Amino acid sequence: MRREMTPRVEIDLRKISHNARVLKKWYEEKGIQITGVVKGVSASIEIAKALIDSGITTLADTKISRIQKMKSSQLNATYLLLRTPALSEIDEVVRFADISMNTELEVIRALSKEAVKQNKVHSIILMVEMGDLREGIMPEDVPAFIEEVLKLPGIQIVGLATNFACFGGVIPTEQKMCEFSALAMKVQKQFSLIFPYISGGNSANYNWLKHTKDVGVINHLRLGESIFLGRETVNGTPIPGLYQDAFCLVAEIIESKYKPSVPFGEQRKNAFGEKVFFQDRGMMQRAIVGIGRQDVFVSGLTPLLPVEILGSSSDHIILDTKNIHLKPGDEIKFSLDYGALISAMTSPYVYKKYLHISEKDRCSKRRTKRITNISSGDTVNYLISFL
Ligand SMILES: *Cc1c(COP(=O)(O)O)cnc(C)c1O
Repeated sequence: MRREMTPRVEIDLRKISHNARVLKKWYEEKGIQITGVVKGVSASIEIAKALIDSGITTLADTKISRIQKMKSSQLNATYLLLRTPALSEIDEVVRFADISMNTELEVIRALSKEAVKQNKVHSIILMVEMGDLREGIMPEDVPAFIEEVLKLPGIQIVGLATNFACFGGVIPTEQKMCEFSALAMKVQKQFSLIFPYISGGNSANYNWLKHTKDVGVINHLRLGESIFLGRETVNGTPIPGLYQDAFCLVAEIIESKYKPSVPFGEQRKNAFGEKVFFQDRGMMQRAIVGIGRQDVFVSGLTPLLPVEILGSSSDHIILDTKNIHLKPGDEIKFSLDYGALISAMTSPYVYKKYLHISEKDRCSKRRTKRITNISSGDTVNYLISFL
């Protein structure tokens, strides 16, 4: 019998779907609509579909090419472009995104011109800088900014948004959220607007929402990591009732030998320009796993066996296997953090295996498995058709 392909990510769509349903219900009870952020799973069509089937109606990604991919797969949702558009992609943004996040007047003017040309109204959400110092308009500049945008044809402002804990590590405290809410309230009143999206952040906002007594006018959040990995992201703590193991990386042992623990010979920097030091543990049982840094963010992996990752190069991970005997052909599983998930899901060299939600599954709880390789072939065809 042919062995299963490695390396592969095993994706349990039932667990993702469960997480999405639980989160949607919990957030909605607090007056918050959620958008599913699919950039962490490279906008996998199977996963996007599972989210839609779980009641999520808006999907967001940072790349317009992946929004195009989802749209052309006939997945019925509202699509939000999470990153401010580049001037070189205005045509596609107006064509494929229902809403885009924006911070630059020059870009919005270009969107306006293109929307008029395409005979469309393009919706935008303005990102407000609340201290994390990635994208955003400074709060005091927001009113004058809106005044300018309101002059532009083909553009409709549908909300304000802010983002936390991404670049500067600034967290959404009660005070920050109050400030943001007050700003949204003020500009809605000033310009007689009603924003359907007052979007207060991402998976890092969980603890704020859990403890706050008043969400103010905030009515929306954008969630990626907590749907996929079942965690809030300020402390990385599991959210009760959610699965943390919807994804698992499976790789294969390609060498297993008894070798020294310290490199022997004249030593310089390694292939990545790093000077590496090794603790002398005498002779040890070492194994090589057939996956490396060009496929996955190795420091985000945790082996599910009591072995230790000693290091990695572009295509190899080297393990101290301790008392575990591993031989070539053995499979080893790893859990993934968000960085590892993003990289493995984006790599065309990592196969994707989906555990599907089937009718039979719903009735008898029996697992049905199907391998779908969406990586290499599909990605390449798609990129060609996009260009
Ligand atoms: C990635 C991203 C999110 C989702 O963040 P999670 O921590 O995965 O919930 C939300 N908003 C923006 C602007 C993003 O780039």
